Amino acid sequence: MNLHEYQSKEILKRYGVKIQEGIVADSPATALEAAKALTAQTGTKWYVVKAQIHAGGRGKGGGIKLAKGIDEILPIAEKIIGMTLVTPQTGAEGKKVHQVLIAEDVYYPGETPTKEYYVSVLLDRKTGQNVIVASQEGGMDIEEVAEHRPEAIIREYVNPAVGFQDFQARKLAFALGTEGQAFKEMVAFLKSLYRAYEDIDASLFEINPVLKTSDNKIIAVDAKVNLDDNALYRHKDLAELRDVREEDPLEVEAKASDLNYVKLDGNVGCMVNGAGLAMATMDIIKLSGGEPANFLDVGGGANAKTVEAGFRIILKDPNVKAILINIFGGIVRCDRVANGVVEAYKKIGDIKVPIIVRLQGTNAQEGAKIIDESGLKVFSAITLKDAAERVKEVLK
Ligand code: GDP
Ligand code: MN
Repeated sequence: MNLHEYQSKEILKRYGVKIQEGIVADSPATALEAAKALTAQTGTKWYVVKAQIHAGGRGKGGGIKLAKGIDEILPIAEKIIGMTLVTPQTGAEGKKVHQVLIAEDVYYPGETPTKEYYVSVLLDRKTGQNVIVASQEGGMDIEEVAEHRPEAIIREYVNPAVGFQDFQARKLAFALGTEGQAFKEMVAFLKSLYRAYEDIDASLFEINPVLKTSDNKIIAVDAKVNLDDNALYRHKDLAELRDVREEDPLEVEAKASDLNYVKLDGNVGCMVNGAGLAMATMDIIKLSGGEPANFLDVGGGANAKTVEAGFRIILKDPNVKAILINIFGGIVRCDRVANGVVEAYKKIGDIKVPIIVRLQGTNAQEGAKIIDESGLKVFSAITLKDAAERVKEVLK
């Protein structure tokens, strides 16, 4: 699950990190109120209007605008709220902006140029350790820096047995070239960021840019959090921050039915029990000349209800030209799955795409018989090869 910039910054603030202060708003009128309240709070006269979407690169796409005075808030907010923002990270279809963060301008116009850094904490799956990634080349696309100037990126790995050590924070702050008060602030910033990352069970906590002001303050100007979904059960407060408007509607529906569903771009929908089998099934679809329309793991207990929920979700995808159901009857018996498929099929009714059901394992023959005798446009297959041949046929 991802968090918005304003939500991520609120977390940082709780951990004592200095942030670019801001107030979120979902209409031009409330944006103006937010700007007034922000001036009362911080004294700022200039503002930055920031589109809140789950994607970076907003500045490049026109989703971040400087307002040099309160008079500029309304026209800018009117333009940004409701717009479809296209950034290098959203894909061509872009993302609709539902809310903006009215933030204080922290770049002190007219003063000595300030410096922007990149800092993130993430889980490095290769080493099984958390790593702090930092660079003096902040404010821009870090992937680009990594590609063209890899030496400009600093990495500090955290031994899980002892945690992030003070000397590591100092080492990083030194490598970032900070001195004096800024050095002290950077050390404190790194320690607080790491603590926040660990406490909320994040898999990524990225601040780009971290700003050094001309008076040597270290401030988080942007913030991005990816939370570990498997740890959300122990963070009820964070789970509530979920913004389903940012997610694929089919994936939201699947989650509500406890299905592991990921939408893809192909034409063959698939429903499988077990993640490994789902991967193999997607390979088979490709080998038969199709492209998987989704990943869908219905889990161990495939029954009429989960099959129906899966069906409904797959059928909502207009690209789907055929559906391949691939179930291994281990704990669940194939005849029960077959009955579930027939039942769900009849209940949904009016299914226009052909369905191939491959059942293997306990009572596979009985299951195939139920499918064949159902009189529905459902084809049974026992081996994966049969199933692939069937997919090939129906795609013709
Ligand atoms: P992103 O483009 O989605 O990563 O959004 P950011 O929050 O990182 O903002 C993008 C850029 O907007 C920053 O790199 C800054 O150059 C600029 N920006 C952000 N806050 C301020 C501010 O307070 N004042 C000024 N002048 N520019 C800002
Ligand atoms: Mn940024």
